[in-house]
Amino acid sequence: MAKRDYYEILGVSKGASASDIKKAYRKLALKYHPDKNPDDASAEEKFKEAAEAYEVLSDDTKRQQYDRFGHEGMRGGPGGFGGGGMDMDDIFSQFGDIFGGAFGGGGGRRRRMKGSNLRIKVKLTLEEVSEGVSKKVKVFKQVPAQGVEYSDCATCHGTGQVRRVTNTILGQMQTASTCNVCHGTGQSITRKPSGTDDMGMVREEAVVSLDIPAGVEDGMQLSVRGEGNGAPMGGVSGDLIVLVEVLPHESFQRNGKNLHHDHYISFVDAALGSTAEVPLLGGKAKIKIDPGTQSGKIVRLRGKGLPAVDSYGNGDLLVNLNVWTPKKLSKDETAALEQMRESANFQPDADHGERGFFDKVRDMFS
Ligand code: ZN
Repeated sequence: MAKRDYYEILGVSKGASASDIKKAYRKLALKYHPDKNPDDASAEEKFKEAAEAYEVLSDDTKRQQYDRFGHEGMRGGPGGFGGGGMDMDDIFSQFGDIFGGAFGGGGGRRRRMKGSNLRIKVKLTLEEVSEGVSKKVKVFKQVPAQGVEYSDCATCHGTGQVRRVTNTILGQMQTASTCNVCHGTGQSITRKPSGTDDMGMVREEAVVSLDIPAGVEDGMQLSVRGEGNGAPMGGVSGDLIVLVEVLPHESFQRNGKNLHHDHYISFVDAALGSTAEVPLLGGKAKIKIDPGTQSGKIVRLRGKGLPAVDSYGNGDLLVNLNVWTPKKLSKDETAALEQMRESANFQPDADHGERGFFDKVRDMFS
């Protein structure tokens, strides 16, 4: 089944503010809440769908990624990036606050703790960007230690919530709030091995596989769900946020999905015509130099640029031809050139069919 657009699911526009998105989600979450729709599978599906949309659109990094790449950019699975497939526990532990007092804590749902996100940087060559690449990275993350034992929190008797009855002029009111002894988890640690922190966590080295799609750009962030810090008491792990850095290349400058290459030709080749060999990412190509080629001419090699993550087809390689003027000349060379100095064909005639710099720039963008 085709996935629906996250904005469409929440019924908001692409430019919706964070608070509009939160409001829209809250409305849907209350409408399809399982407590209100017992044993209704389609309501549960809608509840999950809205939570998934909210998970992505409420997180700046994920929203930006979704805006650029759509669902493609959010592929789940091992090493994949992004959201998809939240279970009910995830939804209540992450977005419990959204439901507020609407259900009065009646479900008695314990809150699950959430591990923090980890950030790493990966450096990629243009060759890697061009093909896409799988990389294994080492990260240090918090994980629950072996041998930690829990029991129900004595303060809230394992419910995660503390109820308080207060007398007001309108009569008795019952309020429920998160237990601040166990942070709403309903559990406390009764035994933990030495070397662990207060929450029974240790820091460990882990190897994470990243599948980086072709066409990523410098400064882009990809998130790998659940590969961040773990959480105590059976909580939900945070995400691993991968910041992409693209290394400079000796032959190419990148401009989106196009590549630029500066190529120098002699003025003899420029005048008489020739062929030249230019580098490609992972190869070489021959280009034709027409007789009478002017410095600054751009030769476009279609499809020899980079793929884009968010669209089909490759960009182009734009070869900028520069005519090389010799800096040293022998006596004979000087004499030969002197003979041509006054020749009519050697006088610049820019008004006849030669386009200047600004025209060329305009052509590039039209
Ligand atoms: Zn408690």
